[in-house]
Amino acid sequence: MMLKIGITGNIGSGKTTISKIFELLGVPVFFADDAAKQVMISDTLLMDEISQAFGGNSYFDDGTLNRKHIAAIVFNDELQLKRLNEIVHPAVFRAFDQWLAGKMDVPYVLKEAALLFESDSYKICDKTILVTAPLELRIKRVIDRDGLSRNEILNRESKQFTEEKKKALADFSIKNDDSELVIPQVLQLHEVIKSLTARH
Ligand code: ATP
Repeated sequence: MMLKIGITGNIGSGKTTISKIFELLGVPVFFADDAAKQVMISDTLLMDEISQAFGGNSYFDDGTLNRKHIAAIVFNDELQLKRLNEIVHPAVFRAFDQWLAGKMDVPYVLKEAALLFESDSYKICDKTILVTAPLELRIKRVIDRDGLSRNEILNRESKQFTEEKKKALADFSIKNDDSELVIPQVLQLHEVIKSLTARH
């Protein structure tokens, strides 16, 4: 039976990079955060719900999302952000199910999501992987990648569970720091997960 494996990690941990290594091994990866952006401009049921919740000017006439309008509502208002997430979340699940329907001949798939544990998405996963790296290294990576300020990064970090908390919830972890090579860890985990699938 095909397993659904969740993969996550805090900001700058390298979960996307690691997921792409799994992709190179032939493992299909669903990038949930990209999918969330996609469904907001393609899932008509969701688009209606967003318009109802946040007003008709949530979309421009050509169907593109009025990001500034939505951002103005949800930034600095936790309740509105929670409301948006609650509307978008089921649509991402629908997209995942559709995506999954075409993937029946593989031993396992990965679902990559930043808020896998915070959002309860992990509950639909058979197993979960946590990518870890020390905070200072993660900050450096994100500064190099996005040019964000240290404070902006710390602010995002503060909205996520701590690595410690996630470690307690995850079945496997991959250390993506400078102390251990990452590709051998991925290869080893790939074998472990395939053997789990064989036993299912
Ligand atoms: P976010 O949650 O912010 O999207 P993420 O966990 O998906 O981050 P990535 O985007 O994969 O993290 O990695 C962050 C940055 O660090 C990227 O620019 C990536 O290329 C770099 N990076 C990740 N892992 C390594 C590594 N082992 N060696 C060198 N650079 C790395």
